[in-house]
Amino acid sequence: MFRWRADEPGLTRAFTDVGAGNLATHVGDDPQEVATRRAAVAAGLGLAPERLVFMNQCHGAVVHVVDGPWPGPQVPPGDALVTAVPDLALAVLVADCVPVLLADRGAGVLGAVHAGRPGLAAGVVPATLSAMRELGAREVEAVVGPAVCGRCYEVPEELRAQVAAVAPVSATVSWTGTAALDVASGVVAQLRAGGAQVAWLPGCTREDASLYSYRRAQDCGRFAGIVVRYAGWDR
Ligand SMILES: [Zn+2]
Repeated sequence: MFRWRADEPGLTRAFTDVGAGNLATHVGDDPQEVATRRAAVAAGLGLAPERLVFMNQCHGAVVHVVDGPWPGPQVPPGDALVTAVPDLALAVLVADCVPVLLADRGAGVLGAVHAGRPGLAAGVVPATLSAMRELGAREVEAVVGPAVCGRCYEVPEELRAQVAAVAPVSATVSWTGTAALDVASGVVAQLRAGGAQVAWLPGCTREDASLYSYRRAQDCGRFAGIVVRYAGWDR
């Protein structure tokens, strides 16, 4: 169910794999089956299903603060969630885009970010760090999860130039030497520039069949990155 999972006192960060199944409701999958899978992941984290909050991703830079189970059917569109509430898991869904999990364990403030190419350019990462600071975060640790690697993400030269204007480190070449983007490198650079400590996990979604990849199969599902802080632990 989990490709990577770090359980520390009061804090868990994890990424699911294809064993957990598709966790997205927007890819044509049976909503009831998705709900069942989401509930299984929540149970794996020791949480009731409604305590696992998914964002409604749209490739922008809007950040939402959540302080409990979302009351309506869906969180408004946005590409990051932040919270200071324990026992409330924040989830980001990806299949090549870059998932980022953020935590200031001292302040008890968490964030989850969906950072694809448009989000990198739009600045969703610095926007999320700002939102966390408004909730009291000071020392933010970031875990950057598996995404499509630069060699596997060929783009037109003009697009590479556009993104390089914002994130120079993202400009790279593909397996065949054509123009390509390493979006995760740009995300890592933005996290560092924003004062976060960074741990970048290995893995390319397109090359690893245990993860979903839109570039490998466009009818694919989505895996999740999840961060949660548990009540009852001293800060
Ligand atoms: Zn790759």
